[in-house]
Amino acid sequence: MTRFIFITGGVTSSLGKGLASASLASLLQARGLKIHLKKLDPYLNIDPGTMNPYQHGEVFVTDDGAETDLDLGHYERFTGVPCRKDDNLTSGKIFSNVLIKERKGEYLGSTVQIIPHVTNEIKEFILKNTKSDDFVLCEIGGTVGDIEGLPFLEAIRQLRNELGKQKVLFIHLTLVPFLQNSGELKTKPTQHSVKELLGLGIQPDILLCRSQKPIPIDSKKKISLFCNIKESSVILAIDVNNIYEVPRNLHKQGLDNEVISFFKLKTKKPNLKKWQLIEKRILNPDGDVTIGLVGKYNTLADSYKSLIEALIHGSVSNNVKLNIKWLDSELFTKKISLNGLSDVNGIIIPGGFGTRGTDGKINAAYYARKNKIPFLGICLGMQIAIIEAARNLANLKDANSTEFSKTNNPVIGLMTEWIKENKRVTRKLNGDLGGTMRLGSYDCNLKKNSKVYHIYKKNRISERHRHRYEVNFNYIKTLEKFGLCFSGMSPDGKLPEIFELENHPWYIGVQFHPELKSRPFDPHPLFISFIKAAIQRSRLF
Ligand code: GLN
Repeated sequence: MTRFIFITGGVTSSLGKGLASASLASLLQARGLKIHLKKLDPYLNIDPGTMNPYQHGEVFVTDDGAETDLDLGHYERFTGVPCRKDDNLTSGKIFSNVLIKERKGEYLGSTVQIIPHVTNEIKEFILKNTKSDDFVLCEIGGTVGDIEGLPFLEAIRQLRNELGKQKVLFIHLTLVPFLQNSGELKTKPTQHSVKELLGLGIQPDILLCRSQKPIPIDSKKKISLFCNIKESSVILAIDVNNIYEVPRNLHKQGLDNEVISFFKLKTKKPNLKKWQLIEKRILNPDGDVTIGLVGKYNTLADSYKSLIEALIHGSVSNNVKLNIKWLDSELFTKKISLNGLSDVNGIIIPGGFGTRGTDGKINAAYYARKNKIPFLGICLGMQIAIIEAARNLANLKDANSTEFSKTNNPVIGLMTEWIKENKRVTRKLNGDLGGTMRLGSYDCNLKKNSKVYHIYKKNRISERHRHRYEVNFNYIKTLEKFGLCFSGMSPDGKLPEIFELENHPWYIGVQFHPELKSRPFDPHPLFISFIKAAIQRSRLF
Protein backbone atom coordinates (compact mmCIF):
# COMPACT_ATOMS: atom_id res chain seq x y z
CA MET A 1 0.00 0.00 0.00
CA THR A 2 1.31 3.46 -0.91
CA ARG A 3 1.10 6.14 1.76
CA PHE A 4 1.42 9.86 1.15
CA ILE A 5 3.16 12.44 3.32
CA PHE A 6 2.63 16.10 2.45
CA ILE A 7 5.10 18.62 3.77
CA THR A 8 4.03 22.27 3.91
CA GLY A 9 5.85 25.28 5.29
CA GLY A 10 4.73 28.26 7.32
CA VAL A 11 5.88 31.57 8.82
CA THR A 12 8.81 32.20 6.45
CA SER A 13 10.45 30.67 3.44
CA SER A 14 13.92 29.05 3.55
CA LEU A 15 13.22 26.97 6.65
CA GLY A 16 14.67 23.88 5.01
CA LYS A 17 11.55 22.03 3.90
CA GLY A 18 13.53 20.31 1.16
CA LEU A 19 16.13 19.06 3.59
CA ALA A 20 13.50 18.02 6.11
CA SER A 21 11.65 16.07 3.40
CA ALA A 22 14.86 14.45 2.13
CA SER A 23 15.89 13.60 5.71
CA LEU A 24 12.57 12.01 6.59
CA ALA A 25 12.73 10.01 3.36
CA SER A 26 16.21 8.79 4.25
CA LEU A 27 15.01 7.76 7.74
CA LEU A 28 12.13 5.76 6.29
CA GLN A 29 14.50 4.25 3.74
CA ALA A 30 16.81 3.23 6.59
CA ARG A 31 13.86 1.25 7.98
CA GLY A 32 13.72 -0.74 4.76
CA LEU A 33 10.84 1.17 3.13
CA LYS A 34 10.68 2.20 -0.53
CA ILE A 35 10.39 5.96 -0.79
CA HIS A 36 9.64 8.41 -3.60
CA LEU A 37 10.04 12.18 -3.29
CA LYS A 38 8.14 14.78 -5.29
CA LYS A 39 8.14 18.56 -5.28
CA LEU A 40 5.17 20.77 -6.13
CA ASP A 41 6.16 24.34 -6.93
CA PRO A 42 3.39 26.93 -6.99
CA TYR A 43 5.16 29.49 -9.22
CA LEU A 44 3.93 30.07 -12.76
CA ASN A 45 7.06 29.15 -14.70
CA ILE A 46 6.68 25.85 -16.57
CA ASP A 47 9.95 24.78 -14.94
CA PRO A 48 12.83 26.62 -13.25
CA GLY A 49 14.97 26.32 -16.42
CA THR A 50 14.59 29.97 -17.39
CA MET A 51 14.81 31.35 -13.85
CA ASN A 52 17.78 33.36 -12.67
CA PRO A 53 19.88 31.19 -10.35
CA TYR A 54 20.78 34.34 -8.44
CA GLN A 55 17.15 34.58 -7.34
CA HIS A 56 16.08 30.99 -7.34
CA GLY A 57 19.19 28.90 -6.80
CA GLU A 58 20.59 26.26 -9.12
CA VAL A 59 18.58 24.36 -11.70
CA PHE A 60 18.92 20.66 -10.96
CA VAL A 61 18.89 18.40 -14.02
CA THR A 62 17.61 14.83 -13.85
CA ASP A 63 18.85 11.85 -15.88
CA ASP A 64 15.77 12.07 -18.10
CA GLY A 65 16.49 15.70 -18.89
CA ALA A 66 14.11 17.70 -16.69
CA GLU A 67 15.20 21.09 -15.37
CA THR A 68 13.98 21.02 -11.81
CA ASP A 69 14.09 22.74 -8.45
CA LEU A 70 17.29 22.42 -6.42
CA ASP A 71 15.45 20.50 -3.70
CA LEU A 72 15.47 17.50 -6.02
CA GLY A 73 19.25 17.58 -5.62
CA HIS A 74 18.82 17.17 -1.85
CA TYR A 75 16.42 14.30 -2.47
CA GLU A 76 18.91 12.46 -4.65
CA ARG A 77 21.87 13.12 -2.38
CA PHE A 78 20.07 12.00 0.78
CA THR A 79 18.35 8.93 -0.60
CA GLY A 80 20.43 7.89 -3.62
CA VAL A 81 17.19 7.51 -5.61
CA PRO A 82 17.38 9.32 -8.98
CA CYS A 83 14.52 11.74 -9.55
CA ARG A 84 12.53 11.78 -12.78
CA LYS A 85 10.79 14.32 -14.97
CA ASP A 86 7.51 13.70 -13.21
CA ASP A 87 8.87 14.41 -9.76
CA ASN A 88 8.72 18.21 -10.04
CA LEU A 89 5.55 20.04 -10.94
CA THR A 90 4.82 23.76 -11.20
CA SER A 91 1.57 25.73 -11.49
CA GLY A 92 2.79 26.71 -14.94
CA LYS A 93 2.88 23.08 -16.07
CA ILE A 94 -0.53 22.39 -14.51
CA PHE A 95 -2.21 25.42 -16.09
CA SER A 96 -0.61 24.71 -19.43
CA ASN A 97 -1.90 21.09 -19.34
CA VAL A 98 -5.37 22.27 -18.36
CA LEU A 99 -5.47 24.86 -21.15
CA ILE A 100 -4.28 22.34 -23.75
CA LYS A 101 -7.07 20.00 -22.67
CA GLU A 102 -9.57 22.87 -22.84
CA ARG A 103 -8.53 23.66 -26.44
CA LYS A 104 -8.89 20.00 -27.36
CA GLY A 105 -12.43 20.06 -25.99
CA GLU A 106 -11.61 17.42 -23.38
CA TYR A 107 -13.76 19.08 -20.71
CA LEU A 108 -16.88 18.52 -22.81
CA GLY A 109 -18.25 22.03 -22.60
CA SER A 110 -17.92 22.55 -18.87
CA THR A 111 -16.65 25.79 -17.35
CA VAL A 112 -12.97 25.21 -16.61
CA GLN A 113 -12.18 26.07 -12.98
CA ILE A 114 -9.50 25.79 -10.31
CA ILE A 115 -11.72 23.27 -8.54
CA PRO A 116 -12.05 20.64 -9.96
CA HIS A 117 -9.97 20.95 -13.15
CA VAL A 118 -6.73 22.35 -11.77
CA THR A 119 -6.96 20.39 -8.53
CA ASN A 120 -7.68 17.18 -10.47
CA GLU A 121 -4.60 17.76 -12.59
CA ILE A 122 -2.52 18.22 -9.41
CA LYS A 123 -3.91 15.07 -7.81
CA GLU A 124 -3.23 13.08 -10.96
CA PHE A 125 0.38 14.23 -10.86
CA ILE A 126 0.76 13.33 -7.18
CA LEU A 127 -0.58 9.81 -7.77
CA LYS A 128 1.37 9.19 -11.01
CA ASN A 129 3.96 6.37 -10.92
CA THR A 130 3.56 5.68 -7.22
CA LYS A 131 2.04 2.19 -7.17
CA SER A 132 5.23 0.41 -6.16
CA ASP A 133 6.24 2.93 -3.45
CA ASP A 134 5.72 2.44 0.28
CA PHE A 135 5.89 6.17 0.86
CA VAL A 136 5.48 9.19 -1.39
CA LEU A 137 6.77 12.35 0.24
CA CYS A 138 5.42 15.44 -1.46
CA GLU A 139 6.87 18.80 -0.60
CA ILE A 140 4.73 21.87 -1.36
CA GLY A 141 6.96 24.81 -2.26
CA GLY A 142 6.39 28.31 -0.90
CA THR A 143 4.76 29.31 2.37
CA VAL A 144 1.19 28.80 3.54
CA GLY A 145 -0.66 32.00 2.72
CA ASP A 146 0.84 32.44 -0.77
CA ILE A 147 -1.86 32.97 -3.38
CA GLU A 148 -0.22 30.56 -5.83
CA GLY A 149 -0.14 27.78 -3.26
CA LEU A 150 -3.90 27.60 -2.71
CA PRO A 151 -4.80 25.08 -5.46
CA PHE A 152 -2.07 22.74 -4.19
CA LEU A 153 -3.29 22.90 -0.60
CA GLU A 154 -6.84 22.33 -1.80
CA ALA A 155 -5.70 19.32 -3.84
CA ILE A 156 -3.96 17.67 -0.89
CA ARG A 157 -6.96 18.39 1.35
CA GLN A 158 -9.14 16.55 -1.17
CA LEU A 159 -6.67 13.68 -1.39
CA ARG A 160 -6.83 13.06 2.35
CA ASN A 161 -10.59 12.76 2.03
CA GLU A 162 -10.40 10.52 -0.98
CA LEU A 163 -7.60 8.20 0.15
CA GLY A 164 -8.46 8.26 3.86
CA LYS A 165 -6.55 9.28 6.96
CA GLN A 166 -4.81 5.90 7.12
CA LYS A 167 -3.01 6.74 3.89
CA VAL A 168 -2.29 10.48 4.16
CA LEU A 169 -0.22 12.43 6.68
CA PHE A 170 0.30 16.18 6.88
CA ILE A 171 3.55 17.61 8.23
CA HIS A 172 3.90 21.35 8.70
CA LEU A 173 7.29 23.03 9.14
CA THR A 174 7.28 26.31 11.05
CA LEU A 175 9.63 28.67 12.79
CA VAL A 176 9.82 29.19 16.54
CA PRO A 177 11.88 32.37 16.71
CA PHE A 178 14.05 33.36 19.65
CA LEU A 179 13.61 36.96 20.77
CA GLN A 180 16.89 38.29 22.04
CA ASN A 181 15.31 41.13 24.06
CA SER A 182 12.98 39.01 26.10
CA GLY A 183 15.19 35.94 25.93
CA GLU A 184 12.20 33.84 24.89
CA LEU A 185 11.18 31.43 22.16
CA LYS A 186 7.91 32.56 20.61
CA THR A 187 5.18 30.12 19.61
CA LYS A 188 2.65 32.62 18.22
CA PRO A 189 3.86 32.54 14.57
CA THR A 190 3.45 28.75 14.63
CA GLN A 191 -0.06 29.05 16.07
CA HIS A 192 -1.00 31.52 13.33
CA SER A 193 0.44 29.40 10.58
CA VAL A 194 -1.48 26.33 11.74
CA LYS A 195 -4.62 28.47 11.98
CA GLU A 196 -4.11 29.52 8.37
CA LEU A 197 -3.82 25.88 7.30
CA LEU A 198 -6.90 24.95 9.33
CA GLY A 199 -8.80 27.67 7.50
CA LEU A 200 -8.01 25.75 4.32
CA GLY A 201 -9.26 22.51 5.81
CA ILE A 202 -5.90 21.00 6.68
CA GLN A 203 -5.11 19.94 10.23
CA PRO A 204 -1.42 19.09 10.41
CA ASP A 205 -0.63 15.78 12.12
CA ILE A 206 3.01 16.53 12.85
CA LEU A 207 4.64 19.90 13.44
CA LEU A 208 8.31 20.36 12.74
CA CYS A 209 9.45 23.41 14.67
CA ARG A 210 12.60 24.99 13.35
CA SER A 211 14.44 26.73 16.16
CA GLN A 212 17.82 28.04 17.18
CA LYS A 213 17.45 26.61 20.66
CA PRO A 214 15.83 23.61 22.30
CA ILE A 215 12.12 24.26 22.88
CA PRO A 216 11.22 24.08 26.60
CA ILE A 217 8.57 21.57 27.55
CA ASP A 218 6.10 24.36 28.44
CA SER A 219 6.32 25.88 24.96
CA LYS A 220 5.90 22.45 23.41
CA LYS A 221 2.77 21.92 25.53
CA LYS A 222 1.46 25.30 24.44
CA ILE A 223 2.02 24.53 20.75
CA SER A 224 0.38 21.15 21.19
CA LEU A 225 -2.66 22.67 22.93
CA PHE A 226 -3.21 25.60 20.58
CA CYS A 227 -2.46 23.73 17.38
CA ASN A 228 -4.46 20.65 18.28
CA ILE A 229 -1.51 18.29 17.82
CA LYS A 230 -0.40 15.66 20.30
CA GLU A 231 2.70 16.60 22.24
CA SER A 232 4.90 13.83 20.87
CA SER A 233 4.13 15.08 17.36
CA VAL A 234 5.52 18.54 18.06
CA ILE A 235 9.06 17.95 16.92
CA LEU A 236 12.06 20.17 17.30
CA ALA A 237 14.17 20.80 14.20
CA ILE A 238 17.12 22.57 15.71
CA ASP A 239 19.73 24.46 13.66
CA VAL A 240 22.74 22.24 12.90
CA ASN A 241 26.27 22.88 11.70
CA ASN A 242 26.04 20.85 8.54
CA ILE A 243 23.15 19.37 6.63
CA TYR A 244 24.31 15.79 7.09
CA GLU A 245 23.41 16.06 10.79
CA VAL A 246 19.74 16.64 10.00
CA PRO A 247 18.54 13.02 9.54
CA ARG A 248 19.98 11.74 12.82
CA ASN A 249 18.84 14.83 14.61
CA LEU A 250 15.26 14.45 13.46
CA HIS A 251 15.43 10.77 14.35
CA LYS A 252 16.55 11.62 17.90
CA GLN A 253 13.55 13.94 18.16
CA GLY A 254 11.31 11.06 17.18
CA LEU A 255 10.15 12.17 13.71
CA ASP A 256 10.26 8.83 11.93
CA ASN A 257 8.74 7.09 14.96
CA GLU A 258 5.78 9.46 14.89
CA VAL A 259 5.29 8.81 11.18
CA ILE A 260 5.46 5.05 11.59
CA SER A 261 3.06 5.04 14.52
CA PHE A 262 0.65 7.40 12.71
CA PHE A 263 0.32 4.78 9.98
CA LYS A 264 0.29 1.97 12.59
CA LEU A 265 3.20 0.27 10.86
CA LYS A 266 5.79 -2.08 12.24
CA THR A 267 9.28 -1.82 10.77
CA LYS A 268 12.81 -2.64 11.82
CA LYS A 269 14.78 0.06 13.65
CA PRO A 270 16.51 2.40 11.19
CA ASN A 271 20.15 1.73 10.51
CA LEU A 272 21.81 5.16 10.61
CA LYS A 273 25.45 4.06 10.82
CA LYS A 274 26.46 5.67 7.54
CA TRP A 275 25.03 9.02 8.68
CA GLN A 276 26.89 8.76 11.96
CA LEU A 277 30.09 8.01 10.10
CA ILE A 278 29.81 10.97 7.77
CA GLU A 279 29.10 13.33 10.69
CA LYS A 280 32.21 12.01 12.42
CA ARG A 281 34.38 12.47 9.35
CA ILE A 282 33.15 16.02 8.80
CA LEU A 283 33.89 16.85 12.45
CA ASN A 284 37.40 15.35 12.46
CA PRO A 285 39.23 16.40 9.28
CA ASP A 286 42.92 15.85 8.83
CA GLY A 287 43.93 19.23 7.38
CA ASP A 288 42.10 21.45 4.94
CA VAL A 289 42.03 22.51 1.32
CA THR A 290 41.10 25.83 -0.31
CA ILE A 291 39.30 25.88 -3.64
CA GLY A 292 38.82 29.11 -5.59
CA LEU A 293 35.41 29.27 -7.26
CA VAL A 294 35.50 31.77 -10.09
CA GLY A 295 31.92 32.58 -10.92
CA LYS A 296 29.27 35.18 -11.50
CA TYR A 297 26.49 34.41 -9.08
CA ASN A 298 28.81 34.32 -6.12
CA THR A 299 26.51 36.14 -3.77
CA LEU A 300 23.98 33.34 -3.63
CA ALA A 301 25.61 30.08 -2.59
CA ASP A 302 22.42 28.25 -3.61
CA SER A 303 23.17 28.92 -7.26
CA TYR A 304 26.07 26.44 -6.92
CA LYS A 305 24.37 24.07 -4.46
CA SER A 306 25.28 20.74 -6.06
CA LEU A 307 28.81 21.92 -6.85
CA ILE A 308 29.46 22.86 -3.23
CA GLU A 309 28.04 19.56 -2.05
CA ALA A 310 30.15 17.61 -4.56
CA LEU A 311 33.25 19.46 -3.34
CA ILE A 312 32.32 18.60 0.23
CA HIS A 313 31.87 14.94 -0.75
CA GLY A 314 35.29 14.94 -2.41
CA SER A 315 36.85 16.60 0.64
CA VAL A 316 35.21 14.28 3.15
CA SER A 317 36.41 11.27 1.20
CA ASN A 318 39.94 12.73 1.33
CA ASN A 319 39.49 13.52 5.04
CA VAL A 320 40.01 17.26 4.70
CA LYS A 321 37.94 20.31 5.51
CA LEU A 322 36.87 22.33 2.49
CA ASN A 323 37.31 26.09 2.34
CA ILE A 324 35.74 27.83 -0.61
CA LYS A 325 37.14 31.14 -1.76
CA TRP A 326 34.36 32.89 -3.68
CA LEU A 327 35.87 34.92 -6.47
CA ASP A 328 33.83 37.15 -8.71
CA SER A 329 35.20 36.60 -12.22
CA GLU A 330 34.91 40.31 -13.00
CA LEU A 331 37.74 40.81 -10.50
CA PHE A 332 40.12 39.14 -12.94
CA THR A 333 39.30 41.18 -16.01
CA LYS A 334 42.64 42.84 -15.37
CA LYS A 335 45.42 40.26 -15.18
CA ILE A 336 47.07 42.17 -12.34
CA SER A 337 44.42 41.04 -9.87
CA LEU A 338 45.10 37.37 -10.61
CA ASN A 339 47.28 37.18 -7.51
CA GLY A 340 43.92 36.78 -5.73
CA LEU A 341 44.34 33.18 -6.89
CA SER A 342 47.81 32.63 -5.50
CA ASP A 343 46.65 31.15 -2.18
CA VAL A 344 44.15 28.64 -3.52
CA ASN A 345 45.00 24.96 -3.93
CA GLY A 346 42.61 24.37 -6.79
CA ILE A 347 40.47 26.44 -9.16
CA ILE A 348 37.00 25.74 -10.47
CA ILE A 349 35.18 27.60 -13.20
CA PRO A 350 31.61 26.39 -12.95
CA GLY A 351 28.76 26.43 -15.44
CA GLY A 352 27.15 29.69 -16.46
CA PHE A 353 25.48 31.72 -19.17
CA GLY A 354 26.13 35.03 -20.90
CA THR A 355 29.08 37.26 -21.61
CA ARG A 356 29.53 39.14 -18.33
CA GLY A 357 32.70 38.13 -16.52
CA THR A 358 34.04 35.87 -19.29
CA ASP A 359 37.31 37.78 -19.76
CA GLY A 360 38.06 37.34 -16.09
CA LYS A 361 37.30 33.63 -16.34
CA ILE A 362 39.60 33.24 -19.34
CA ASN A 363 42.36 34.95 -17.34
CA ALA A 364 41.75 32.65 -14.37
CA ALA A 365 41.98 29.57 -16.64
CA TYR A 366 45.27 30.97 -18.02
CA TYR A 367 46.59 31.46 -14.48
CA ALA A 368 45.72 27.88 -13.49
CA ARG A 369 47.36 26.49 -16.64
CA LYS A 370 50.54 28.53 -16.31
CA ASN A 371 50.96 28.01 -12.56
CA LYS A 372 50.07 24.32 -12.68
CA ILE A 373 47.20 24.77 -10.22
CA PRO A 374 44.65 21.91 -10.31
CA PHE A 375 41.80 23.15 -12.46
CA LEU A 376 38.31 21.86 -13.15
CA GLY A 377 36.24 23.58 -15.82
CA ILE A 378 32.60 22.60 -15.77
CA CYS A 379 30.42 23.18 -18.85
CA LEU A 380 30.95 26.92 -19.45
CA GLY A 381 34.20 26.44 -17.50
CA MET A 382 35.37 23.89 -20.07
CA GLN A 383 34.40 26.19 -22.93
CA ILE A 384 36.35 29.03 -21.30
CA ALA A 385 39.44 26.82 -20.92
CA ILE A 386 39.20 25.84 -24.61
CA ILE A 387 39.00 29.51 -25.63
CA GLU A 388 42.00 30.29 -23.43
CA ALA A 389 44.05 27.44 -24.93
CA ALA A 390 43.04 28.39 -28.49
CA ARG A 391 44.04 32.01 -27.95
CA ASN A 392 47.22 31.59 -25.95
CA LEU A 393 48.56 28.19 -27.02
CA ALA A 394 47.31 27.82 -30.59
CA ASN A 395 47.66 31.55 -31.21
CA LEU A 396 44.13 31.97 -32.53
CA LYS A 397 43.81 35.42 -30.99
CA ASP A 398 40.14 35.94 -31.89
CA ALA A 399 39.03 32.48 -30.76
CA ASN A 400 35.72 32.72 -28.96
CA SER A 401 32.34 31.18 -28.31
CA THR A 402 29.52 32.34 -30.56
CA GLU A 403 27.58 32.79 -27.31
CA PHE A 404 29.80 35.78 -26.56
CA SER A 405 30.56 37.34 -29.94
CA LYS A 406 30.90 36.87 -33.69
CA THR A 407 34.33 35.49 -34.57
CA ASN A 408 36.32 33.92 -37.38
CA ASN A 409 37.47 31.24 -34.96
CA PRO A 410 34.35 29.86 -33.29
CA VAL A 411 36.04 27.22 -31.12
CA ILE A 412 32.75 26.97 -29.24
CA GLY A 413 29.58 27.00 -31.33
CA LEU A 414 25.86 26.47 -31.16
CA MET A 415 24.74 22.91 -31.82
CA THR A 416 21.57 22.51 -33.82
CA GLU A 417 21.64 18.76 -34.13
CA TRP A 418 22.84 15.85 -32.01
CA ILE A 419 22.05 12.22 -31.20
CA LYS A 420 20.25 11.03 -28.09
CA GLU A 421 19.66 7.32 -27.59
CA ASN A 422 20.19 6.68 -31.31
CA LYS A 423 17.68 9.38 -32.29
CA ARG A 424 18.48 12.69 -33.94
CA VAL A 425 17.52 15.78 -31.88
CA THR A 426 17.31 19.17 -33.62
CA ARG A 427 17.08 22.71 -32.29
CA LYS A 428 15.70 25.73 -34.14
CA LEU A 429 18.05 28.70 -34.17
CA ASN A 430 15.49 31.22 -32.93
CA GLY A 431 13.38 28.77 -30.96
CA ASP A 432 12.20 28.89 -27.34
CA LEU A 433 14.73 29.39 -24.57
CA GLY A 434 12.99 27.09 -22.09
CA GLY A 435 13.65 23.34 -22.28
CA THR A 436 15.68 23.47 -25.51
CA MET A 437 19.20 22.79 -24.31
CA ARG A 438 21.08 19.49 -24.53
CA LEU A 439 19.59 18.18 -21.32
CA GLY A 440 19.94 15.08 -19.19
CA SER A 441 22.24 12.07 -19.24
CA TYR A 442 24.41 11.24 -22.23
CA ASP A 443 27.02 8.52 -22.61
CA CYS A 444 30.64 9.40 -23.20
CA ASN A 445 33.55 7.17 -24.24
CA LEU A 446 36.84 7.65 -22.44
CA LYS A 447 40.21 7.38 -24.11
CA LYS A 448 42.25 4.44 -22.78
CA ASN A 449 45.01 5.48 -20.38
CA SER A 450 43.95 9.13 -20.24
CA LYS A 451 43.76 10.84 -16.86
CA VAL A 452 39.97 10.61 -16.76
CA TYR A 453 40.11 6.93 -17.70
CA HIS A 454 42.19 6.30 -14.58
CA ILE A 455 39.91 8.51 -12.51
CA TYR A 456 36.65 6.85 -13.56
CA LYS A 457 38.24 3.41 -14.02
CA LYS A 458 35.96 2.61 -16.95
CA ASN A 459 35.59 3.06 -20.71
CA ARG A 460 32.14 4.50 -20.81
CA ILE A 461 30.45 6.93 -18.45
CA SER A 462 27.10 8.68 -18.36
CA GLU A 463 26.79 12.26 -17.15
CA ARG A 464 24.15 14.98 -17.05
CA HIS A 465 24.17 17.94 -19.43
CA ARG A 466 22.58 21.39 -19.62
CA HIS A 467 23.98 23.59 -22.37
CA ARG A 468 23.43 24.94 -25.86
CA TYR A 469 27.00 25.35 -27.07
CA GLU A 470 29.66 22.71 -27.77
CA VAL A 471 33.36 22.53 -28.51
CA ASN A 472 33.71 22.86 -32.28
CA PHE A 473 34.92 19.50 -33.62
CA ASN A 474 36.82 21.22 -36.45
CA TYR A 475 39.37 22.64 -34.01
CA ILE A 476 40.24 19.39 -32.24
CA LYS A 477 43.24 18.54 -34.44
CA THR A 478 44.73 22.02 -34.05
CA LEU A 479 44.29 22.03 -30.28
CA GLU A 480 45.73 18.53 -29.94
CA LYS A 481 48.97 19.81 -31.43
CA PHE A 482 49.31 22.08 -28.40
CA GLY A 483 48.95 19.42 -25.72
CA LEU A 484 45.17 19.21 -25.33
CA CYS A 485 43.88 15.66 -25.15
CA PHE A 486 40.20 15.12 -25.93
CA SER A 487 39.85 12.20 -23.60
CA GLY A 488 36.04 11.96 -23.58
CA MET A 489 33.89 11.93 -26.73
CA SER A 490 30.22 11.27 -27.44
CA PRO A 491 29.67 7.67 -28.64
CA ASP A 492 29.31 8.87 -32.28
CA GLY A 493 32.71 10.58 -31.91
CA LYS A 494 31.35 14.01 -32.81
CA LEU A 495 30.99 15.89 -29.53
CA PRO A 496 34.03 16.56 -27.36
CA GLU A 497 32.85 15.90 -23.80
CA ILE A 498 36.13 16.03 -21.84
CA PHE A 499 39.55 17.48 -22.45
CA GLU A 500 42.68 17.40 -20.33
CA LEU A 501 46.06 19.07 -20.56
CA GLU A 502 48.99 16.77 -21.07
CA ASN A 503 51.67 18.81 -19.34
CA HIS A 504 49.82 19.75 -16.22
CA PRO A 505 49.27 17.87 -12.95
CA TRP A 506 45.46 18.19 -13.10
CA TYR A 507 43.71 20.36 -15.67
CA ILE A 508 40.40 18.93 -16.85
CA GLY A 509 37.40 20.43 -18.62
CA VAL A 510 34.08 18.61 -18.82
CA GLN A 511 31.11 19.61 -20.94
CA PHE A 512 28.69 18.00 -18.47
CA HIS A 513 27.85 18.65 -14.82
CA PRO A 514 29.50 15.92 -12.72
CA GLU A 515 28.34 17.64 -9.52
CA LEU A 516 24.76 16.57 -10.22
CA LYS A 517 25.65 12.93 -9.71
CA SER A 518 27.81 13.21 -6.62
CA ARG A 519 26.38 11.83 -3.39
CA PRO A 520 27.71 11.84 0.15
CA PHE A 521 27.82 8.05 0.21
CA ASP A 522 29.05 7.79 -3.37
CA PRO A 523 31.30 10.81 -4.01
CA HIS A 524 31.96 11.59 -7.66
CA PRO A 525 35.38 10.27 -8.84
CA LEU A 526 36.27 13.59 -10.53
CA PHE A 527 35.77 15.49 -7.28
CA ILE A 528 37.68 12.94 -5.22
CA SER A 529 40.57 13.18 -7.66
CA PHE A 530 40.42 16.99 -7.99
CA ILE A 531 40.51 17.49 -4.21
CA LYS A 532 43.35 14.96 -3.95
CA ALA A 533 45.35 16.96 -6.51
CA ALA A 534 44.58 20.18 -4.61
CA ILE A 535 45.82 18.59 -1.36
CA GLN A 536 49.02 17.52 -3.09
CA ARG A 537 49.47 21.07 -4.35
CA SER A 538 48.88 22.48 -0.83
CA ARG A 539 51.63 20.23 0.49
CA LEU A 540 54.08 21.49 -2.12
CA PHE A 541 54.01 25.04 -0.80
N1 GLN B 1 26.36 28.89 -21.69
C1 GLN B 1 26.97 27.65 -22.07
C2 GLN B 1 26.09 26.88 -23.03
O1 GLN B 1 24.89 27.08 -23.10
C3 GLN B 1 27.31 26.82 -20.86
C4 GLN B 1 26.11 26.36 -20.09
C5 GLN B 1 26.46 25.79 -18.74
O2 GLN B 1 27.53 26.05 -18.22
N2 GLN B 1 25.54 25.05 -18.14
O3 GLN B 1 26.59 26.02 -23.72
